[in-house]
Amino acid sequence: MTARTYPTWDNASGRRIGVEEEQAVLRVLHTGHLSRIGGVEAAALEREFADLMGMPHAVAVATGTASLHCAVAALDLNPGDEVVVPPITDAGTVIGALAQGLVPVFADLDPLTGCLTPETVEAAITPRTRAVVVVHLFGAAADVEGIVDVCRPRGIRVVEDCAQAYLTTTPQGAFVGTVGDVGCFSLQQSKHITTGDGGLLVTGSAALARRAALFADKGWPRDTGERTHLFLGLNYRMTDLVAAVARAQLGKLESVVADRRRVAGMLNTALSRPGVHLPNLLGHTFWLYPLVLDRAVFPGGNRRLAELVEGSGLAVSPGYLQRVLYDNPVFTEKRTFGDSGWPLNLADELFPSCPTAEAMVAQTLVTVGINENFTDDDVSAAASVLNDALDAMQVG
Ligand SMILES: *Cc1c(COP(=O)(O)O)cnc(C)c1O
Repeated sequence: MTARTYPTWDNASGRRIGVEEEQAVLRVLHTGHLSRIGGVEAAALEREFADLMGMPHAVAVATGTASLHCAVAALDLNPGDEVVVPPITDAGTVIGALAQGLVPVFADLDPLTGCLTPETVEAAITPRTRAVVVVHLFGAAADVEGIVDVCRPRGIRVVEDCAQAYLTTTPQGAFVGTVGDVGCFSLQQSKHITTGDGGLLVTGSAALARRAALFADKGWPRDTGERTHLFLGLNYRMTDLVAAVARAQLGKLESVVADRRRVAGMLNTALSRPGVHLPNLLGHTFWLYPLVLDRAVFPGGNRRLAELVEGSGLAVSPGYLQRVLYDNPVFTEKRTFGDSGWPLNLADELFPSCPTAEAMVAQTLVTVGINENFTDDDVSAAASVLNDALDAMQVG
């Protein structure tokens, strides 16, 4: 097979970085003031992102992982409190909770979307559960309204991890990130829009926004003029240099999402066949393009598909992850703080197995790397590569 060069998130071919970003960088450099403290860019980005999301508050931080850490820190929970999380996600979903001394409790997933469901969340709730981090995987909306209905009566807070889901909408028409208590976003290199690294959060709560912003700045309430530290915080500040680039990228977000939807719609048409579950286009913003295979039709599963497309140039990941999150040493060997095992040693029972998530990673889930710069020819070539492989592995 001859490899085709597809546009990729890893360089300019699959990114929308142009004169707007160039001007943004120079605008800040020429002021000689690159920090957000005393600057204007990060504050402007926060206003613009909050307005886009229709939310009263946004906070800009250094990374997506930092935004999630700030979100759980803003909830001000106690060590040993439990946070329900999904096992198929970036580690950034749970790292902040662990750093706050919280115990991640992994709940199983919907077998077609790979997202937490109200039922799997409810099954993971114990008397110590204080929060849930819902991931809108690959750009599909989890049933976050249903999860909020399970959590709110019990006083359990809901954080939405929207790192892969800019402008994703729920079936009820809400932007993901605006339904729970806090919505978290990433500007890392591979995301819909990027500054290399960066993060944003939105919330309807002035108190949570205030606490998250203080946590990202050493607990220092600079607006009061007093040099004091109100509680333990870190330095997770976004610089004004980064914020200026983020503002330029934000201006391109709607076109990026529209083009990703175009690519996914064409792939859905080309790949419609028995035994392949295609992503639901409604509300989806396609960070990646996911397929779920029926094991009766494709017994070789996702690993076989990946072997067959190797050398094509198409970025196909069997299972998205190599292993579910709880099968990594940080959890299996409790590699956290020295040899204490803390806070994972506070849990009665660590990680009930999540058979659906394990089967998705090992057998049924396939993700295809697409982006806004795929041409119609790129889409046709990708569809042929995938259809040829599926033809070759199909039984019957
Ligand atoms: C990328 C990502 C993160 C972490 O964001 P960083 O900016 O890389 O720290 C968290 N959760 C999910 C679902 C992600 O895709």
